[in-house]
Amino acid sequence: MKSLDQLIRPNIKSLKPYSSARDEYSGEEAIFLDANENPFNEPYNRYPDPYQRKLKTKIAEIKSISEKSIFLGNGSDEAIDLAFRAFCEPGVDNIVSIDPTYGMYQVAADINNIEVRKVKLTPDFELDTTKLLSVADENSKLLFICSPNNPTGNSFKKEDIITLIEKFEGLVVLDEAYIDFAPEKSFLPDLNKYPNLIILQTLSKAWGMAGIRLGMAFTSPEIITIFNHIKYPYNINILTQQKALELLEKEDEKNGWVEELLKQKAAMTIQIKGYSFVEKIYPSDANYLLVKTNAPKEIYNFLVEQGVIIRDRSTVSLCEGCLRLTIGSKKENKALYEGLDKYTNQIQ
Ligand SMILES: *Cc1c(COP(=O)(O)O)cnc(C)c1O
Repeated sequence: MKSLDQLIRPNIKSLKPYSSARDEYSGEEAIFLDANENPFNEPYNRYPDPYQRKLKTKIAEIKSISEKSIFLGNGSDEAIDLAFRAFCEPGVDNIVSIDPTYGMYQVAADINNIEVRKVKLTPDFELDTTKLLSVADENSKLLFICSPNNPTGNSFKKEDIITLIEKFEGLVVLDEAYIDFAPEKSFLPDLNKYPNLIILQTLSKAWGMAGIRLGMAFTSPEIITIFNHIKYPYNINILTQQKALELLEKEDEKNGWVEELLKQKAAMTIQIKGYSFVEKIYPSDANYLLVKTNAPKEIYNFLVEQGVIIRDRSTVSLCEGCLRLTIGSKKENKALYEGLDKYTNQIQ
């Protein structure tokens, strides 16, 4: 890989970051007359810890990783945006990404005026590593891989991901938002081996905390420092930090949810297979199924009328006819099946 010095934008490299009151004094027991806070209305009157130390200690313990390798953001989306702002010079640099994949990489690229060099997955949704490496040039700063991939649901082969990490000259962002549902192992234990790897995970899916907005990036302490220099000083509010700390104690509950959702996914696969309008159900390592049908728009609209909302992915590359079904509770899934039963009766 190139050195971070070669990859970082010059203005970010020379940036003098904002120094907050809590940067300059970070002890706990004291009389704080340094941040123009209101002394009343505890604890909401105080600015939150800008580096979320307690929360990182807990996450470090859960993930068996050093706190120095953790960045916390307002959802994974914040880390995605920071990677662009730190490394990609608007109008000059580019990123490499797969197609189809999570839409946020393209949006973040567009916001930052960065070209996206998209490489289609193979027809069976695998990585074309040769092509991904060959579209890169000296201005390719980031390579995005999402595994398990959204919306296709499959995990990529470990050896393909390693090939990309080892041969791509820039930074590889590996989005593991759905890793808790997958039989494959996270790349986290290998983080120290790959200085150009940024792993994204989130509390939004398996942990059931999409509403509090907490995304995690795991990478080298050098890259974490760069992110810390450019993020909003108090990017994670007190309520989110407290709630996350509280709910991260309940790892057993999270594991129970994952087990239940995997059971429901198996049940949904059997149920959906029985419908005549279903042409294919793609293998999924995530908490959703990508299903090829002969009438995606009609089915989507019919289900909306029944009060069941799914995702029409039929206009996405390689996903012609496809709908994406999130695995819900047993009761929610039953409502989906009833809607699809009705649709079946209606087309007969
Ligand atoms: C849902 C999802 C995320 C999570 O985003 P947050 O901003 O953390 O809620 C990240 N990546 C992918 C691919 C997703 O599908």
